[in-house]
Amino acid sequence: MIKNKIKIINYFIVLIIVIMIISIFSGLKVKAIHTKRILLISSYNYSFPTFQNQIEGVKSQLNSSEVLIDVEFMDFKRFETETNLSNFYNSLKYKLEQLEKYELVIVTDDNALDFAMEYNEELFKDTPIVFLGINNHQKAVNASINPNITGVEECISMFDTIDIATKLNKGAKKIIALSDGTETSRSDLELYYTTKKEFQTYEFTDINLSEMTFEEFYGEIEQINKDDIVLLLSAYTDKLGNDKSFNESLELINESCQAPIYHLWEHGIGEGVLGGKVISHYEQGKRAGKIVNSVLNGESIKNYPLITEENNKYIFDVKKLEENNISMNLLPKNTILINEKISFYENNKKIVNRIIALFIFLSLLIIYLMTNIHIRKKHEKELLNKNEELNDTFQELAISQNELKRQYSKIHKYAYYDNLTGLTNRTSLKIKLRNLTQIKTDYLKQFAVIFLDLDNFKFVNDSYGHSIGDKVLKEIAKELIKLDLGNSSIYRLGGDEFVLILEDYQDTFDLNYKTDKLRKTLDRAIDIEGNKYFITASIGVAIYPQNGKNYSELLKNADAAMYKAKENGKNCSAIYDESINAKLNRNMEIRSELVNAFTYKEFFLNFQPQIDIESGRVYGFEALIRWINPKLGFVSPGEFIEVAEEMGRIVQIGNWVLKESCIFCKKINEKYENKLIISVNVSAVQLMQKDFLENIKNILEKTEVDPKLVAIEITETAVLKNFDLNRAKLEQIKSMGIKVSLDDFGKGYSSLYYLRNLPIDTLKIDKSFIDDIITNDNESTIKDLTESIILIAHKVGLKVIAEGVEMPMQLMKLKEYKCDFMQGYYVSKPIEEKLVCEFLKKFEENKGEYKIWN
Ligand code: C2E
Ligand code: MG
Ligand code: MG
Repeated sequence: MIKNKIKIINYFIVLIIVIMIISIFSGLKVKAIHTKRILLISSYNYSFPTFQNQIEGVKSQLNSSEVLIDVEFMDFKRFETETNLSNFYNSLKYKLEQLEKYELVIVTDDNALDFAMEYNEELFKDTPIVFLGINNHQKAVNASINPNITGVEECISMFDTIDIATKLNKGAKKIIALSDGTETSRSDLELYYTTKKEFQTYEFTDINLSEMTFEEFYGEIEQINKDDIVLLLSAYTDKLGNDKSFNESLELINESCQAPIYHLWEHGIGEGVLGGKVISHYEQGKRAGKIVNSVLNGESIKNYPLITEENNKYIFDVKKLEENNISMNLLPKNTILINEKISFYENNKKIVNRIIALFIFLSLLIIYLMTNIHIRKKHEKELLNKNEELNDTFQELAISQNELKRQYSKIHKYAYYDNLTGLTNRTSLKIKLRNLTQIKTDYLKQFAVIFLDLDNFKFVNDSYGHSIGDKVLKEIAKELIKLDLGNSSIYRLGGDEFVLILEDYQDTFDLNYKTDKLRKTLDRAIDIEGNKYFITASIGVAIYPQNGKNYSELLKNADAAMYKAKENGKNCSAIYDESINAKLNRNMEIRSELVNAFTYKEFFLNFQPQIDIESGRVYGFEALIRWINPKLGFVSPGEFIEVAEEMGRIVQIGNWVLKESCIFCKKINEKYENKLIISVNVSAVQLMQKDFLENIKNILEKTEVDPKLVAIEITETAVLKNFDLNRAKLEQIKSMGIKVSLDDFGKGYSSLYYLRNLPIDTLKIDKSFIDDIITNDNESTIKDLTESIILIAHKVGLKVIAEGVEMPMQLMKLKEYKCDFMQGYYVSKPIEEKLVCEFLKKFEENKGEYKIWN
C-alpha cells in the first residue's frame, strides 16, 4: 500500500519536471524577424514644413523595428518641371529595378499621388499605395477607385478658419488671401472665393504672387490694414519663377504684414502665423499610418476606403494673439495653444520641483534644527534652572550640613563637655581612661588619676545661691586649666568633684609636688562680684596600674583616697594605698564580728554632755554607742554603724540604744529634776522601718520616760533618703513630744531649705565648721557661714548646738554668734554612765568654768 503511494508521488514529480522543461523551451522559442520595407514618395523636399509632421505621424503607428521606410523626394514645389519629373522617374525606376520589391508605397501630397497613378502599372504593380496630404477631393476619389490604392484626403477648413478669424478680429472689413500659382494654391483660392458667400459683410480679395515679384508682393502686403484679416494659402514662386521656402517666404510676409495672418495648415503657426482651424499633418500621417500598419500585417488594402472627413484642429499662437490684442477667451474649446507663455515653473518644472523639494527638505531640516535648538535651549534653560535649584539645594544642604555640624558639635559638647565649666566631663574621662588602659606597650606606662573634691562647697552653694556656686566652680575650672602639670587633662565629674589625669607620672615625690601645687592653687580666696570665697580641696590619687586597672577601679580608688584626705582633715591629699584596702579588710572583720556582738553584750553607751552656752548649765547628754570586741578591740561607731546599717543590724542596735538611753534618761532625771535632755542618734535605716514610731512609743511607755526629755538626732542624709516620708515620721515623733535634732549639719548636702521645711527643734553644726571658726583669717567664709547658719536657724525658731568644741576660743566665738548649746571635748568627752553623776556634780561646782573634766 505504502509502496504504491510512493510510486504515485514519483510519477507526479516526473510529470511536473517534464511540464517545466517544456514550458522553459517554449519560452525560448526565437521569433524570426521579417523587415517590412516601404517606400514613401514626398511631393516636396525634406525641408518642406509638412514632411516632418507627416512622416512622424505615419511612424507613430508602425513598429519601427519591423518596418524600414525609404523616402524619395520629388521636390516638386521648387522644381515643378518636366525635367525634374523625368529625372525623378528615371532615378526611381533605376532604384526599383535594383531593389527588392517594396511591400507598400506611401505618397504624400498631390504631385506624388499623380506620379504614383501615372506609373502605377510600371513601377508599383500590385503594390498597395496609401496616400495622404491630397487636398483635391476629386483626385483622391479617382485614385481610390483602384483597389490597391487608398488614403487620407486633406480637407482644409476654409469656412471654420475664416469664421474664427472674423470672430477674433472684430474690426476687420476685409479678408485678403495670399496665394501663388501652384496647383494647390489655385484650388485653395477657388474654395476661398466660394466661401465668400458665407461672409457677405466682408470684402474678399487676394494678392497673388504669380502675378508679381516678391518685392511687389511684400509691398502689397504692407498696404494691408492692420484690422483686416490675412489668409495665407501659398507663396512660394513669383511671376519671375523665383522660389522661396515656406519659412523664408513667411518671414518676409510677416515682416511686411501688420494684420493677423491665418493659415489652413499647422506649419507656420508660431513663426508668424496667428493660427486657424488647421490641418495637422501629423494627425494625417497617423491616420494613413494606421492603414499602412494593418496592410503590412496582412490586412487587405481593399478593406480601407478613402478617409474624407476632416480632423482639423484650432491651433493658435499665444504670442501673436497678444500682439493683436485678441482675448483667448474668444477661442473655441480644445484650442491648441503654442508659444503659450510657459511660467518659469512650467519651463523648469523638474529643476523647480527639485529646488522646491530641496527647499522643503531644507526648510524641514531648518525647522527640525530650529526645533531641536529650541528644545535644546529649553532643556539648557531647564538644566540651568535645575542647576540653580541644585546649587540652591546644595547650598541648603551645605547650610543644613553646617547646621548638622553645629548640632553635632553641640551634641558632642553636651556629651563630652561639662556645660558649666567647659571642661571635659565624666564620659570623656571614661574614654580617656579606657584608651590609656588599653594601650599595649612593652611596659605598662604609669599615670595618675587625681580625684579632687572641694571642701564644704555645699555651703557656698546653699548660703550664697547656686549662681555664686556656679561662678566659684567656673573660677576653679579656670585655675585648673591654667595650672601646668605637664601632660595632663582635666574633667569635671559633677558637683564639686574634678578629676585630673597626669600622664607624666614619674614617682610619688613628683606626684606629691604636683598635688601640692594643685591644692595650693585652690587654697586661696576666689573673688566673685567683689566678695571673697575661700575654697580648699581634698585630693585623692590612684596610680595606674597598681591602684586600678580600669576606669571604675581607678576612679573608685582615687575617690577612696580623696575620702581619706577628707578624713585627714580636708585640704590635703592622699595617695591610694593598701591602708585604704586595709580599711576595707577591717570592714569585713567588723562585719563578721558584729554578728555576735549583741549576744556577747559587747555594746555599751557613753554620754557626752551638751551645755547651754548662755546659762552655763548642762542641757543634756548625747548617747553614743561604744563597742569593744575581743578581736578588734575598740571599734568606733564611725566605723561600724555604717556596716551595721548595711547588714540591717542597726535596727536592733538602734532600738537597744534607744531603750538604754531612755532608761538612763529616766534615771538621771529622777535625780536632776526632769531637766536633762537625752539625745539619741537614729540611723536612716531605723527611720525607714515601718514600726519605728511604734518602737519608740513602746520604749517610752516601757521606760516611762517623758518624751520631752528625749531628743533624736538624725542626719540630713538620712532624711533625704525619703524626704516626704521621713518628714511625716519626724512630724509624728515631734507630735509625741520628742525633740528632733538635725545632726552633722554642714557635713552632707546641707541646705538651709531643710531648716524651714523639716519638723526639727535643733540644728547640730558639724565639727568641721566649729574647727574653722577660730582660723586667723578674719575673712574666713566658714566663720561667716557658721554665724549665718546660727542666725538663720534662730530666725526659723531653731536652737543650735555646736559639736566638737575643743577650744575656749571656739566657745567664745559661739557665744558671740549666740549659739545655744555646745558639745565637745572642751567640756567633756563622751563618758560612761557611771561617771555622769560625777560629771554633773563637778560641772555644778565649777560654775562658768567649762574646762572641768578632761
Ligand atoms: P555624732 O552623732 O555627731 O556624735 C558626735 C561625735 O563627735 C562623737 O563621736 C563624739 O565622740 C565626737 N566628739 C564630740 N566632741 C568632740 C570633740 O570636741 N572633738 C572630737 N574630735 N570629737 C568629738 P563618736 O562617738 O565616735 O560617734 C561618731 C558618730 O557615730 C556619731 O556622730 C554618730 O553619728 C554615730 N553614732 C554614735 N553612737 C550612735 C548610736 O548609738 N546610734 C547611731 N545610729 N549612730 C551613733
Ligand atoms: Mg549625734
Ligand atoms: Mg554630729
